[in-house]
Amino acid sequence: MKLHEYQSKFLFREFGIPIPNGQVAETPDEAQAIASQFGAAVVVKAQVHVGGRGKAGGVKLARDADEARRHAADILGMDIKGLVVQQVLIDPGADIQQEIYLAITNDRGAGRPLIMSSMEGGMDIEELNRSRPDAIIREHIDPILGLNDFQTTLIASAMSMPRAHWRSFGKILRGLYRCYIESDAELAEINPLVITGEGKLLAVDGKVIIDDNALFRQPKLAAQRDTSGEPESERLAREAGITYIKLDGQIGCMVNGAGLAMTTMDMTKLYGDADCIGPANFLDIGGGASPEQVAAALRIILSDEKVQCVLFNIFGGITRCDEVADGILTAYNEVKPNVPMVIRLQGTNASEGNAIISQAQIPTIISADTLTQAAQLAVAAVKERA
Ligand code: GDP
Ligand code: MN
Repeated sequence: MKLHEYQSKFLFREFGIPIPNGQVAETPDEAQAIASQFGAAVVVKAQVHVGGRGKAGGVKLARDADEARRHAADILGMDIKGLVVQQVLIDPGADIQQEIYLAITNDRGAGRPLIMSSMEGGMDIEELNRSRPDAIIREHIDPILGLNDFQTTLIASAMSMPRAHWRSFGKILRGLYRCYIESDAELAEINPLVITGEGKLLAVDGKVIIDDNALFRQPKLAAQRDTSGEPESERLAREAGITYIKLDGQIGCMVNGAGLAMTTMDMTKLYGDADCIGPANFLDIGGGASPEQVAAALRIILSDEKVQCVLFNIFGGITRCDEVADGILTAYNEVKPNVPMVIRLQGTNASEGNAIISQAQIPTIISADTLTQAAQLAVAAVKERA
């Protein structure tokens, strides 16, 4: 789950990281009122979940409150990469002498958190990473030992940061690491961390991504979710407790278990790829697969207009196939899909389940014994409709 810039920075503040003393506005009037409190130059910043707002015109400097109002009027309602701006952050303007990049992320390969930092921060860190990867200092953190003081010094020195800033840099980095760990973050990024004219360090931009699987123990952060930019299907899936990721193919996959779901996707590709046919989604319906859950999953899959066929691949372990079959028929009657459905049930009570399906005698429902057969039937069904 992504936090907005202002949410990220307010979180940083709780960990002792210095940030500009800004506030959020939802109207030009509010923006003007906030800016006039500061009585000097301010920055007006779009709060949307996309990077590179600066380049897209979503970050503007204003000399006074009137100009802040005009910028807020321009930016509020602006479309940035498909997302409409509903809030702006009004920050007191910083006197920027130098822009530093500082981030902590999870390095899956190394199985450890990774610090990345560079004296060449600002807007184009991806470009810097491509063109001059050496300009980014990388340091892993041992999750048992934590971040050592010698490491913060090592990083500051490797970055060629002027020695005068090492102490405050160390404090910020330790705060950022605590923030990363204690918030269950996947990413905690400051870009830029600036050195001001007064020689102070200040986090001018912030981006935090929280591990979705940890949200149950981060209620304060979970409550900050902004669903406005989220696809309808993904919101429905989250509310139903279904793991769903939309893809580009035509075969809607309804599967229990993540591994089986991936195998099912691979199989549709194996038989469909030559005809540009493949999976429309990843979906793990989770344990139980109650009629309500099957119906919710079916609605989510069918909300994607590209779907030409739904492939059910259910393995009954604790889940019983006869219950799933009932669930499928209930969902069918409720949702009335206008595409064919291929159903493969295996495992506990599979024969009872298959009997329920065949007794229903629904012409658009096709049964399959093996996954190979199911994938081939689904591909054939898509081809027939093309
Ligand atoms: P991003 O483009 O979405 O990453 O937005 P940022 O918050 O990082 O802002 C982009 C750029 O705007 C920064 O790299 C700075 O160069 C500039 N900027 C942001 N805040 C200020 C500020 O308070 N004063 C000045 N002079 N420039 C700022
Ligand atoms: Mn930035």
